[in-house]
Amino acid sequence: MNYKVKKAAVLGSGVMGSGIACHLANVGIDVLMLDIQPNDKSIKNKNIIADESLNNAIKSRPNPLYKKQYINRIVTGNFDDDFDKIKDADWIIEVIVENLEIKKTVFEKVEKHKSSHAFVTSNTSSIPISLLCKGRSDDFKSKFCGTHFFNPPRYLRLFEVIPHTNSDPSLISFLMEFGDIILGKQSVLCKDTPGFIGNRIGVMCGIKSSQLTDKYKFKIEEVDLMTGGVIGMPNSGTFRLQDLVGLDTSKNVTNFLVNNVYDDSFYSKLKDLPGNKSFNFLIENKFFGNKSGKGYYEKTKEKDENGRSVINALDLDSNTYRKSIKPNIPEVKEAKSIELFDRRLKFLVEGESDVNKFYIEYFSSILSYSAMSIPEIADDFYQIDDAIKTGYAWNYGPFEIWDNLGIEEAIQMIKSCGEEIPNWITDMVNSGAKSFYIFQDGKKKFYDLNTREYKSVPSSENHYILDAYREQNQILKNPECTVHDIGDGVMCIEFQTKGNSIGEGIAKGIDEAIDIAERDGWNGIVIGNNDKQFSVGANLMNMGMMAMQKNFDDIEKFLVGFQKILMKMRTCNVPVVSATHGFVMGGGLEVSIHCDAGIHASESYIGLVEAGVGLIPGGGGTKEMAMRASDSFNTGDVKIPSLIDHFKSIAMGSVSTSAFEAFDLNYLLPERDFVCMNRMRNISMAKDKALSLKIGYIPPSSRQDIEVLGRSGLSTLYSAINEFRLGNYMSDYDVEVSRKIAYVMCGGDLTFSQNVSEEYLLDLERENFMSLLGNQKTLDRIQHMLMTKKPLRN
Ligand code: NAD
Repeated sequence: MNYKVKKAAVLGSGVMGSGIACHLANVGIDVLMLDIQPNDKSIKNKNIIADESLNNAIKSRPNPLYKKQYINRIVTGNFDDDFDKIKDADWIIEVIVENLEIKKTVFEKVEKHKSSHAFVTSNTSSIPISLLCKGRSDDFKSKFCGTHFFNPPRYLRLFEVIPHTNSDPSLISFLMEFGDIILGKQSVLCKDTPGFIGNRIGVMCGIKSSQLTDKYKFKIEEVDLMTGGVIGMPNSGTFRLQDLVGLDTSKNVTNFLVNNVYDDSFYSKLKDLPGNKSFNFLIENKFFGNKSGKGYYEKTKEKDENGRSVINALDLDSNTYRKSIKPNIPEVKEAKSIELFDRRLKFLVEGESDVNKFYIEYFSSILSYSAMSIPEIADDFYQIDDAIKTGYAWNYGPFEIWDNLGIEEAIQMIKSCGEEIPNWITDMVNSGAKSFYIFQDGKKKFYDLNTREYKSVPSSENHYILDAYREQNQILKNPECTVHDIGDGVMCIEFQTKGNSIGEGIAKGIDEAIDIAERDGWNGIVIGNNDKQFSVGANLMNMGMMAMQKNFDDIEKFLVGFQKILMKMRTCNVPVVSATHGFVMGGGLEVSIHCDAGIHASESYIGLVEAGVGLIPGGGGTKEMAMRASDSFNTGDVKIPSLIDHFKSIAMGSVSTSAFEAFDLNYLLPERDFVCMNRMRNISMAKDKALSLKIGYIPPSSRQDIEVLGRSGLSTLYSAINEFRLGNYMSDYDVEVSRKIAYVMCGGDLTFSQNVSEEYLLDLERENFMSLLGNQKTLDRIQHMLMTKKPLRN
């Protein structure tokens, strides 16, 4: 059967229901969201539960919607009056309270009202899918399965698809692909086992960490540091994560797993152990974490010397709150200075200290348990890695951690802790395999247990994993970037600095890559990477240091070079396409806007933010906004509103909260920029775009026809700036910076409007950038940003 989704019905509007409804709206689906009526019959609005949930959802941060207008795609209703409306839905997703009987009653009703082509799924975290459809017709059962989103549905990428015995295989294939391409998720095929994959492994990791905290008598802040960024896990660590999830939720999921997982090496043992003393204390007192104001941590009303709220932490011995400490763990400090992840992990498990012992036991348990769970919860180990990385936001899944520790070394470590190694791993090692994964021929491959050969990981078939190109001949490499041959005559320029900040190496890399591409007849260039951020912008640290040393000549030399390189990129005879995601800021955006096209992951946060550090975009960003404003001046139209619109984005340093929103800020253009829902696919789509542009490609030439409004534009922008100042949207120095932006965008102090060239605007842009860099207030802003990561509004 062929499935499609244009309309969906979401049943239940709680935390997950409203989040899922918003995400479906994000991707363009019309959503009907229903919930129960209020108990209080005097309330006139029968949809109040769904309405209020939706209102709360869109007020929550991070925002569940890509753009606030997308809320118009969601219609609310109630189960009594509006249930028959589900007949229009192609997909009905149940997201109500976790109770088998209540869910079954709802499915009975769904069967009566749904159209024959519609399929139905449940977002249950724990109830077996086969039980949920018991009593329903064969047709209903074949069009039924689990689709498990993680919280928050927009941001956590895991999408578990759980068939039961009678689910139509074509529905499962459809949902796996739909999750990946349309919803932008990592689809993971699960079995109908307790907690599926993500929670089964993820919850175990949290409990193990908590057990080891007690064993080695660490403080919660120490363990949060140890189980955070240093080992590639989210900085919330163990206990802050519990506070975020909610201890009540955590308790329910844990109890469920303990009561429903049999004969395993972890949950089964928990049945006989006394509960954790501090966890029980928090539950008994309803200290459920962030939602109830306190949990393992407590935000007090007291302020510290910097005006920040004082945070208390739970003392695990006494179950009382004390002032939170900033942990000082030498092993962690040293590990953080080790860049290479494999060396860092090995360093952490080498040694006899309690910190080393914590890591040894923690990793041993996780790796052993994950391995022992195959084939019960997944047929292939890459599915566990996929689930944990995207559902729990780890940088590396358990088997990738294992590879980093070294397969044999980790086996010894696991055995030394008395944990089990399953036969399939022993067989795999005996067959001569040296790792779970290899990178080969541009592919990430996993060891296939059936054929005993390495095969491409199916879930990353269409992803360009640049690690897989490192062993091949690279086109060029310098300390800041690498240029790879990604096939079909397309090269990919990968930035490789911290946050992918742009310095001389990246500029030089782009310059040389263009020369090679033009000289040797390449079909296209993609600029993209697999890191968390596309680019945070120019290397502020270097620029700040040089400015403080009054080394203005070198800064200007760099700027001239950077502007030239971006213009060369724009006008070269090879199509260049950017593939962005994460932060696309300042200089990073300037690179992107000088490409022929851009493929932007929906989760791209885009902005020309230079004003925040007392500068104006100096790599062609201000010129580009002037050019875009000029292109929007249609003959006979009033030009000023459009000029103000373009000016405002950079003067306010606005950053979009999604790629979609960046169109409204004029950072992206409908005719050249495209949104890609799955961030892992942006390089592949950018490559396809470059290849399609190559057919009959005529490079753009440097423009001479940019209409600037001179004094008439300036006077309007200056009065707009005054308004912003009066309304307290700008500080005095913001006014000075904004006036420079206005000056460049209007082409300077011209007596009347006229056409100018890109070069003219670039010179003006650079001149004004340099004049601001000489101002102490700009230097103060840069220093403040580097030290606090927050803008200074001096
Ligand atoms: P919630 O408590 O926020 O929402 C539950 C919803 O069920 C509410 O809209 C409520 O009005 C509705 N409801 C209550 N009684 C009902 C009844 N008798 N008939 C019909 N509807 C009723 O819960 P949630 O966290 O959104 O969880 C919903 C589902 O999603 C559960 O199956 C849960 O296991 C699953 N889930 C939750 C999370 C999470 O982090 N919260 C993550 C993944 C999956």
